[in-house]
Amino acid sequence: MRGTVAAIAFALCAAMASHNVRAEDDYRFLRLDDNYVKWGPPLMRTGAKARYALVTGPAQFLGVRNCGDMNAMDRIAHAAQVDLAAVRAEIAAGFALWEAAADITFEPAEDHDSADILIGTTVNPEGWAFTDVSYDHAGDHAGLTRTKSIKRALICVNAGKPWKIGFGGDLGIYDFRYVFAHEIGHAIGLGHSGDGGQVMSLQYGEQFRTLQGGDRAGAIALYGRKRPPPASAP
Ligand SMILES: [Zn+2]
Repeated sequence: MRGTVAAIAFALCAAMASHNVRAEDDYRFLRLDDNYVKWGPPLMRTGAKARYALVTGPAQFLGVRNCGDMNAMDRIAHAAQVDLAAVRAEIAAGFALWEAAADITFEPAEDHDSADILIGTTVNPEGWAFTDVSYDHAGDHAGLTRTKSIKRALICVNAGKPWKIGFGGDLGIYDFRYVFAHEIGHAIGLGHSGDGGQVMSLQYGEQFRTLQGGDRAGAIALYGRKRPPPASAP
């Protein structure tokens, strides 16, 4: 497939068990047409920055499998009976989890056009949330696995499903932060981990609301270790 996108549904399927993987090694890279993808330079363990924005109205994206028809986040905030500001804070918290784990930083974009990652709602009969990733095809070579730079990621959450902020034990209502953390993981180049017990596991759960060992290891494999903040002047 020479297309520009891969779609990853955060779906209802059961996670495949593979018990020979240590939890701290349990991550997989997103693989698009034989390529690994990341933000920034197309080299593993190099840092990157990405800007994100929320879609504020109807937005169409051609050739995109799941998030091609997006709309504003306030639709879902209204349905979940929470403020848009609260959803926005959950999205920021999701980005902060990854930012704390590896050398990748996120900041809000000035506008849609300058955003690398766009976040909005969709209406879809299946699934809760989706991520579409497009990357730079320069140097594509069939059969060779290479690392490529991501050009744009779209994250859309299904406005037709019930949502909440925080865990409440009802696994039929998904927590925004957990799902955004998972989708952001895809948007930075991670696939589903092989086993349960990670944010990047396929199945929604309410055991933890922070990245796990495999999630962090995956982010570090892509972007390198978090660099300490510059020393302040004496
Ligand atoms: Zn997923």
